[in-house]
Amino acid sequence: MLKCHYCSSESSTYIKYAKMHLCKEHFINFIDRKIESSLKRYKMLEEKSKLLLAISGGKDSIVMLNSLSKLKLNILALYLDLGLGNYSNEAKKICEEITSILGVNFITISLKDLIGIDLPSLAKKAHRPYCSVCGIVKRYLLNIAALYSKVDKIAMGHHLDDLLTFIFKNFIIQRMEDISKLGPKTESMEGLIGRIRPLYEVSEEETRLYVEFSNLPYLESKCPYMFRGDLEILLRDFINKLEDNFPGIKISMIRYIAKNINKFKIESKWSYCKNCGHPSISEYCSFCKITKKAIGEMYGNIVKEKIAKIISYN
Ligand code: SF4
Ligand code: ZN
Ligand code: ZN
Repeated sequence: MLKCHYCSSESSTYIKYAKMHLCKEHFINFIDRKIESSLKRYKMLEEKSKLLLAISGGKDSIVMLNSLSKLKLNILALYLDLGLGNYSNEAKKICEEITSILGVNFITISLKDLIGIDLPSLAKKAHRPYCSVCGIVKRYLLNIAALYSKVDKIAMGHHLDDLLTFIFKNFIIQRMEDISKLGPKTESMEGLIGRIRPLYEVSEEETRLYVEFSNLPYLESKCPYMFRGDLEILLRDFINKLEDNFPGIKISMIRYIAKNINKFKIESKWSYCKNCGHPSISEYCSFCKITKKAIGEMYGNIVKEKIAKIISYN
């Protein structure tokens, strides 16, 4: 029987890059410590930071929530219900369950309650791809919720494999500025709350093992609108083959990228949306533009008022 590196229990997994056999308990501990040290390494938090955790019910955000809840931080978890059919209903249930188990403050914001239609209808009416509309909506609603709940940062559950895949993809198509958005954190500015990625050095496989070993509830199904192109699938495969041959290379790569992240940045001229006052690089913000195109009205101010009410009730 192969034993755990730290105790006499049977090993449940082997961490190739750390050359350690670990039992379930010490594996969870290993990942918790890795997340904690990423918070410090990348200076993600100030002292006494209040955090808004964007949770989706998937394994990545559940790992982030579970791990950060052990650090005695001031946390508010938020689930954005985009109205993606049964997938959203299941995800919401899981988020309610896990936040109640962990005793974390939790709110849900429903897109349909805010603008009268769900995400698929909004995308159809705007004649835009689902994921691109989803990105605009999520960024806007999360930021408004973060502003009204007076948090210092928004924590996102993006893991190492997703980040490296997007970085490689953006490099291939030479969208270097987009790489600058894939660092461990973004700074806050007037009207825009900065983001952090506590799972910056945690791989997808590690999030899978973490939820499995800790018996945490999580949503196994993927969003019905998820689409992974051939290039993305190939890149993921390539990155993991690299890791198989050179254990630890994924973490080394992401650390180099984090070091150079500002070199990819293009200074944009920020102004404020003429309708809702949200920071924007054009006359109107993307959320106001997309709601105007799809529903005939800019919903920025309406949404802000409704979210302010939801936050003040909780
Ligand atoms: Fe949104 Fe689903 Fe696309 Fe993710 S996969 S961005 S949840 S529509
Ligand atoms: Zn052990
Ligand atoms: Zn606006």
